[in-house]
Amino acid sequence: MQTLTQSRFRYGNGIRLIDDSGVEYLDAVSGTFNLSLGYNHPHIVEKVQEQVGNLTHMSSSFTEPYVNDVLEKLTEIAPNGIDAGWMRDITGSTANECAVKIAQKYTQSSDIISLYLSHHGQSQFATGISGNAFRRKKFPNSAAANSVHVPAPYCYRCPFNSSGPNCGFQCIEAISDHIEYASSGSVACMIIEPILGNGGNIIPPEGYFERLRKLCDEYSIILIADEVQTGIGRTGYMYASELFNIQPDIITLAKGLGGIGIPVAAVLMQSRLDVLEKHEHSFTSGSNLLSLIAAKSTLEVVSEPGFLDEVKLKGEILRELLHELAPKYKCIGEARGVGLMWGLEIVDSQGAPDVVKANAIIERAFTDQHLILRGSRYGLGNVVKVRPSLTVTTDELVEITERLESVLQSVN
Ligand code: PMP
Repeated sequence: MQTLTQSRFRYGNGIRLIDDSGVEYLDAVSGTFNLSLGYNHPHIVEKVQEQVGNLTHMSSSFTEPYVNDVLEKLTEIAPNGIDAGWMRDITGSTANECAVKIAQKYTQSSDIISLYLSHHGQSQFATGISGNAFRRKKFPNSAAANSVHVPAPYCYRCPFNSSGPNCGFQCIEAISDHIEYASSGSVACMIIEPILGNGGNIIPPEGYFERLRKLCDEYSIILIADEVQTGIGRTGYMYASELFNIQPDIITLAKGLGGIGIPVAAVLMQSRLDVLEKHEHSFTSGSNLLSLIAAKSTLEVVSEPGFLDEVKLKGEILRELLHELAPKYKCIGEARGVGLMWGLEIVDSQGAPDVVKANAIIERAFTDQHLILRGSRYGLGNVVKVRPSLTVTTDELVEITERLESVLQSVN
């Protein structure tokens, strides 16, 4: 029997992975949520292969025309006057650092507000601004010194024990208290994930982002939407900011932008925020041509007429399937999600987070059902995620849920 870490996969196609003994697995989480178009999507493969034979990399001093091709497409459909961008990053972590640098340079302020349970990356800085206390404790670092964490809008486990549409948004109140108390006007930015992905697929309640935007305006705080997970069609919209009407000042992207897992990242902003000099944030392998070609061809696919409508439709089918499944199993406290970004909150008989069971589900799914799921180690650890590639078929959605149900029957 193979375990998750021992497997050597040889080939992938769509949401399917084949290991070296020819056994096929269904990847229900698009790699690390980054293979937005699945394994070996033919259009991206063709364009990247073509590029390999021409030029794979140049100094970023010469890549502007290629960068502009991608930025043109990204900004054409971006929300709220976002019309400029920066593509010298390879990862989401440094894209977030770039966004914060922009905000700090523009505002000449230092502090960064982020949410508990947020995850903004693994670099020293991104760990510091991420809202996972146990991780920061392991790596005490200077970045955490000017970053402030505020309660997440986690309605299922409301940090204020409130509930319902008239909860009073104490989670927003807590932010304003913090601004007033902590900073005397020195907050540069607030960084949020439209859906807290690794924190547990947490979806803020209606009205949350409207209040957040108002608060940021009141204190002249730059609002950064980390769309590393939610961007490029994951929710059925190109940007989750559009779905939730967030109106961010800056959007960061990575993961799904590379289509078939090619590393690439982007920072989009309103042109007033286009303040960085070239030498202030760039990396040797940034603006890599293969990355830029992958991004460009991914956008060609995602913006084909009807593509996102189909993602929305498939998202509704997945919603129905998971909402039908969840009430049958006591260990599922809640199935929540939007588009093709779903999480199952696994609970014990008292409703407390059941991390052991969540891990058992993931492990058994792999060994017994050849179904690849992922957990939420950066959150409370009890949310099992389902996030297939945007190219998943409806039959495959049914297949994923059937295999998941077999696992649940064996662990419930
Ligand atoms: N932001 C979010 C929301 C993420 O989920 C991640 C990665 N899991 C990152 C940032 C960091 O991206 P990367 O791993 O490419 O550095």
